[in-house]
Amino acid sequence: MSHPIPDGVWIGRVRMVARLALRIASVVLGLLAARSLLAWGYYLVESSQSGYVSGMAYVQFWWSLVMAAFYAVPAAAMLLWEPVVLRWLVPIPDRRCPGCGYPLLSHDAQERCPECGIRLRANDPA
Ligand SMILES: [Zn+2]
Repeated sequence: MSHPIPDGVWIGRVRMVARLALRIASVVLGLLAARSLLAWGYYLVESSQSGYVSGMAYVQFWWSLVMAAFYAVPAAAMLLWEPVVLRWLVPIPDRRCPGCGYPLLSHDAQERCPECGIRLRANDPA
């Protein structure tokens, strides 16, 4: 006899994987932001040492700062609003019968909809 996996457990596992993926993505974006900030610092030091700023260096200076923000903002947002992002990526299904829309308050314990009798678990045998 196979025990069906409760929906809550399955969602928890998918969210765990999604959380890991989000954190890896945040670290990668953070590293890219750091690289852009280093480039920005390099242009800053170089222009202060040479005493003049050419047009191209000026563009590179600001562009590297824009790129740092471009990477850092989504990385920070993913870490700050991680629960929100996870709920959006892996939502809890609406606890209503897919057949008739009857609200299923004890969804996890039910095999069939008490209203229309539709089978609620796809992974149950027979
Ligand atoms: Zn129903």
